[in-house]
Amino acid sequence: MRNKPNHESRITNHRGKVWLIGAGPGDPELLTLKAARVLGEADVVLVDDLVHRGVLAHAQPRARVIEVGKRGGCKSTPQGFIEKLMVRCARRGAVVARLKGGDPFVFGRGGEELLALRAAGVAVEVVSGITAGIAVPAALGIPVTHRGLARGAIFVTGHAAGDDEPDWEQLARCGLTLVIYMGIARIASISACLQAGGLSGNTPAALIQNGTLPEARSAVTTLAELPAAARDFGSPGIVVIGEVARLAGLAREALRLAHAA
Ligand code: SAH
Repeated sequence: MRNKPNHESRITNHRGKVWLIGAGPGDPELLTLKAARVLGEADVVLVDDLVHRGVLAHAQPRARVIEVGKRGGCKSTPQGFIEKLMVRCARRGAVVARLKGGDPFVFGRGGEELLALRAAGVAVEVVSGITAGIAVPAALGIPVTHRGLARGAIFVTGHAAGDDEPDWEQLARCGLTLVIYMGIARIASISACLQAGGLSGNTPAALIQNGTLPEARSAVTTLAELPAAARDFGSPGIVVIGEVARLAGLAREALRLAHAA
């Protein structure tokens, strides 16, 4: 009996495929080996604006590179257009590398793209990346969990408003490190809500902009002082709230002392 030709066999007949790749938080050396390898196999590379252009050194010179950046509030390529473009390229047999900042599944719309590609019958695989919420505090010597200080960490967006807004008063009571992505612009309201929920204004907090990059800037402060400290900070920034923020700079300080000894 002959097998009926089906959708699955049609898509596996050619090499067309999409890789959803996490490019890491900034420093191009924080790219995984797998990301570098599959990037080197791509015919088309779609790049988000937080991706360090240094990672493109792993792409083939003949690869077509398309910038599809979208930063909060700025002009951006519509999500639907990006998805259609990936489907079209893969259906023509191209290997597509979709490069996203950090990890594609952490506030990166990678999940939506995965579903859209699957729905279109396109082969798709994910290559995890190092998310900013872990690596950016780490570069400052802040572990997001630490025995005796934080038994866990919550990754939350500060960008959502209205019905989508996280329940800050509940988060204030969770006893875990709060790692806030896209939170700088709304930090005054977030700080007030957390304090209204019972989190002490003296809770240590850190702000880091452009973490893991040479132009990184940071401030270590308290929950109550966050709005004032954030005044001259912009995007991309991570806010860490919790006892672990106390450890900021300790690693660097210990290193300096070790060198001085
Ligand atoms: N998928 C990404 C997050 C995308 S949302 C990841 O896993 O890291 C974009 C937000 O990530 C920024 O607004 C900022 O909050 C954070 N971010 C990304 N890179 C950063 C960096 N180098 N320094 C500080 N924050 C960063």
